[in-house]
Amino acid sequence: MPQASTAEILRLVSSGEASSRTDLARILGLARSTVSLRVQELIDAGLLTETGEGPSRGGRKPRVLKPAGDGGYVVGADLGAQHVRLAAYDLRGERLHLTETELDITEGPEACLTGLLEIVGDLTQILAGQRLLGLGVGLPGPVNFEDGRVERPARMPGWHGFEVRDWLTERLNIPVAVDNDANVVALGELHTRNRGPEHLVVVKAGTGVGCGVIVSGVVHRGANGVSGDVSHVRVQAAGENLCACGNTGCLETIASGAAIARGVGARDTRHLVELANDAEPQATAAVRRAGGHLGEVLSTVVNFFNPHAVLLTGLLSSVEPYVAAVRGALYERCLPMATQNLQVAVAQAGPDAGPLGAGMLALHQVHRKERN
Ligand SMILES: [Zn+2]
Repeated sequence: MPQASTAEILRLVSSGEASSRTDLARILGLARSTVSLRVQELIDAGLLTETGEGPSRGGRKPRVLKPAGDGGYVVGADLGAQHVRLAAYDLRGERLHLTETELDITEGPEACLTGLLEIVGDLTQILAGQRLLGLGVGLPGPVNFEDGRVERPARMPGWHGFEVRDWLTERLNIPVAVDNDANVVALGELHTRNRGPEHLVVVKAGTGVGCGVIVSGVVHRGANGVSGDVSHVRVQAAGENLCACGNTGCLETIASGAAIARGVGARDTRHLVELANDAEPQATAAVRRAGGHLGEVLSTVVNFFNPHAVLLTGLLSSVEPYVAAVRGALYERCLPMATQNLQVAVAQAGPDAGPLGAGMLALHQVHRKERN
């Protein structure tokens, strides 16, 4: 059963949209037996309770589901190269608090995560009296999800092999989940769309280029957790450009925010986006070219995977010519069958996709932990 549906069940029950297994099965479009299994897990985990009996509609009286206790909240943190966006969500998925702070990922894991703990500490002060149930973290590099460990990241000195999940769990004493930022963003978008089992490609185009893959409503991480990594696909236009991975000609060397910004003399990705959105000709042209290269690589993905949608997030997704260039390249290069109903658009969850997805990941971890 999709991870997002766990969070979705909690949200639907907490918001009052559903009060029985029958309601949940109808709203989520899932078999009642599947829903019952997951509801039982949430009851066992102490997140839902079952009270009395509801009004009968002719047959057996349905038992009424309610959130347990005050419900509590989870925190999702989305770490970028230079900042962290962090939010608290109640079990309905309603955002309780959002904060964004500068945090330099190159300072290494201990300094960065200590900074993160301070922000979480401030948040527990603000939400005093409510129970912090779990923390989810998205990191801008490859993450071994099962072990909660960073694996050979580019531009993250000192992080390789660092056991982020265990380090945080020891200090916070709550369930923690850690994943790649593109997967986290994909999860946030999936939660926002709430359209049942879909096949999605969610591209995070910011300082780097990341890609999360959703298969039938579930994040697909692959055998080693690097599924969806399009940034090191070789593209002809990148020539012999040396990439941070040690290879040459990677997509990242011409289509990432960092690479485009360097090429047009912008300070960083944010500055590049400002220039392009002000229609500065050089920046706009560079961003458009980069979008075309990304679309070229994604066309292979689309032909191979046949998703319902390719959704763009990250700073560059706010630049219209970039999105248009990705769309153009996809329609030009993909099989007509693959693009017939293909949606190429900016993700709905916007900048909240990261923290929201991390929060939903935390929620999933909460019930998983308490079950073990
Ligand atoms: Zn590379």
